[in-house]
Amino acid sequence: MKPETLAIHASNIVKSTTGDVTSPINLSTTFFRDENGGYPGGHMYSRVSNPNRSALENTVAKLEYGAAAAAFASGNNCGMSLFQALKPGSHIIAPDDMYWGIKKQLLTIFNETLEFDFVDQTNLALIEASIKPNTALIWIETPSNPLLKVTDIEAISSIAKSRNITLACDSTFASPVLQNPILLGADIVMHSSTKYLGGHSDILGGILITAKQDALWEKIRNVQQTGGAVPSPFDCFLLCRSIKTLAYRMKGHCENGKQVAQYLAKHPKVEAVFYPGLETHPQHEIAKKQMKDFGGMMSFLVKGDVEATSKVVNGVQLFAQATSLGGVESLIEHRFSVEGPDSKTPKNLLRISVGLEHPDDIIADLEQALG
Ligand SMILES: *Cc1c(COP(=O)(O)O)cnc(C)c1O
Repeated sequence: MKPETLAIHASNIVKSTTGDVTSPINLSTTFFRDENGGYPGGHMYSRVSNPNRSALENTVAKLEYGAAAAAFASGNNCGMSLFQALKPGSHIIAPDDMYWGIKKQLLTIFNETLEFDFVDQTNLALIEASIKPNTALIWIETPSNPLLKVTDIEAISSIAKSRNITLACDSTFASPVLQNPILLGADIVMHSSTKYLGGHSDILGGILITAKQDALWEKIRNVQQTGGAVPSPFDCFLLCRSIKTLAYRMKGHCENGKQVAQYLAKHPKVEAVFYPGLETHPQHEIAKKQMKDFGGMMSFLVKGDVEATSKVVNGVQLFAQATSLGGVESLIEHRFSVEGPDSKTPKNLLRISVGLEHPDDIIADLEQALG
């Protein structure tokens, strides 16, 4: 089935005795055993699994063409769980432009147990040169946050495969509708489901999808079930509900994104626009090869100093000045001040998540804010 169809039907796997057409919310934390000690409903205790989480995991595994998925209480917890599943002393090649919260895990939580290098992964030679005998994982993020760098998933996967290194891809900015890293050779895909999967800025969650149910998958599943950083049945229910409209929301985000990027690219007060759909984007050809469309995320540099940039970000009326992305409402954010003084993000960079309002209204708001 095509993603539009899967998104609507894959989560309705719970056949209830009351004949519900959509899945009910199963709040029970515990499940009946039979005389032989088995679990006839397929679930034992809701930290281990529950019907709503299984429905979510099956749906996203299908949308990403994976063998299995593990849902977590946040996107960040996907990073935690994968890093915890690695052997201590393992080396990770991570991107130089990386979601700061997961980078912070490496720098402040795994700094004594894992080794890592942050590399410009648009340069394949730099990746090859960073490989060490103990390199266990190449972690990529494409398109990346906040510079929208695009890395060649297929090319990096052949480097990883030839050295027996696991390739994991944070595909949050693309969503499973626009990009399927497993089909391009990745072993693991990650989504912050807080973003496009949830799509309404009201659910926190994350999910890891694996290409195979191999030994690393078993470790990830064990960290999830034993560690217990799992989403609630209600969050899983909301996500399944949101995912039903994902393909159509993404069409709107892409269409609006394209128009906003083209508008910004021509604006005299804008120094540069980072959007993989623009022909001027340095990895536009790779983006065209591995993405079905280019999404609603972009960032741009305001001509001038931090003051000129604050004027723009404080001048919006329709946009919400807030962090996060992927919701129906347009958001704008000054990344540097969120990431803190160690951040390498340019001080005149604004990141926007283009929502599903009418594009004329979104552009009119930017027009008045840019003055
Ligand atoms: C938001 C985000 C995360 C972290 O997800 P949370 O749900 O906020 O924990 C990771 N990667 C990317 C690209 C993100 O945008």
